[in-house]
Amino acid sequence: MTEFRFGQATDVGNVRQANQDRYFGDGSVFAVADGMGGHSGGEVASGLAVDALSDREQITALGDLVTLVHRANDRIVESARDDPSLRGMGTTISILAALDDSEDEKRLGIANVGDSRIYRLGEGEVFQLTEDHSLVEALVRDGRLTPEEAGSHPQRNILTRALGIDAKVLVDAWELRAVSGDRYLICSDGLFNELTDDQIFEAVGDSDDPQTTAELLIERACEAGGRDNVTAVVVQVTAGDEIGSDEQRIVTVRRAVPDRDSSDGPVPEADELGVTDSDEAQPVGSAVAGRGRGVLTWRAGLVVAAVVIVIVLVVTVVAAYARSVYFVGVEGGDVVIYQGRPGGVLWFDPTVEEPVNVGVVELDAVEYDAVAAGVEFDRIDDARDYGRRLALRVRDDT
Ligand code: CA
Repeated sequence: MTEFRFGQATDVGNVRQANQDRYFGDGSVFAVADGMGGHSGGEVASGLAVDALSDREQITALGDLVTLVHRANDRIVESARDDPSLRGMGTTISILAALDDSEDEKRLGIANVGDSRIYRLGEGEVFQLTEDHSLVEALVRDGRLTPEEAGSHPQRNILTRALGIDAKVLVDAWELRAVSGDRYLICSDGLFNELTDDQIFEAVGDSDDPQTTAELLIERACEAGGRDNVTAVVVQVTAGDEIGSDEQRIVTVRRAVPDRDSSDGPVPEADELGVTDSDEAQPVGSAVAGRGRGVLTWRAGLVVAAVVIVIVLVVTVVAAYARSVYFVGVEGGDVVIYQGRPGGVLWFDPTVEEPVNVGVVELDAVEYDAVAAGVEFDRIDDARDYGRRLALRVRDDT
């Protein structure tokens, strides 16, 4: 059996009224859940997620861990269905667990949905194992944001996946060698949005004791701003396998890939470190708007599409109004016929249709005042008649 030492700490932070983060650790399964949703929804969702972990059966393979996450998702979806005040609640989940198989090698399983993270605290650096299911992560992957910009981006709370949103949920999972001495950090975004990798590395280097390390990380994140709930679980493998510190830990990667046409961000590439399993590919369903947190889904996409259609309709109507009339006006020193309204409407400026063959200097004072303001007509033929009368009058006088 793989054995562990672990420590865990959480803090509401300096800004939030309630702590919607939950942690879990019982000696073989460790997790962080970061809830979202108004009223008490966030706490309920993250609480249901960690409760599902304590009610588990034995975890012997990576598939068991993924099943456990699906079960947690079912419970949250059902609770939200039963209680209207909890509708829209959701939560992230990041789990690290011993896989109690009888193989010669000792193994760990990791499962992740959302933007809580699991790091391996290596010698000299920290390795982020999980991939955030968030809008900013998709933008970083596309090269449109730097990781530093992502940490302070106003949309950094928008998730592309979470538990409790839909009956189907995509779960990323990893299988790793359990190596004696290895340390792992599970944390909510309240930690890594406040501390850089270097600052995390600095903090975890200060103590060998997991509880002290967890508390120190929370303290530093609060000192750095504490703008969100902040939670850390530090796990150390005390009895595992012995391998070199630079040897590959990752055995298998099952990165659940969304449908290409879903709104779940860009499709991640197959991981070169292991197998990518796409058999769970399903788009996430409905939209969630929590306190500053939400899930971008296809329904949110429909809302965006509807807004675009309304804007197009409004522009079309304004354009039709703006362009439906003609006027005789002045361009430079010449009298011309414009299509549009004098002065324009919003961003639709009138355009010159044709000249009238009369110079401004040839007009008398009354004609000049009228033409300078623009003499409007519904039909271009009426504008032409007016122009012809102006031209005749000018020619009669000369
Ligand atoms: Ca958070």
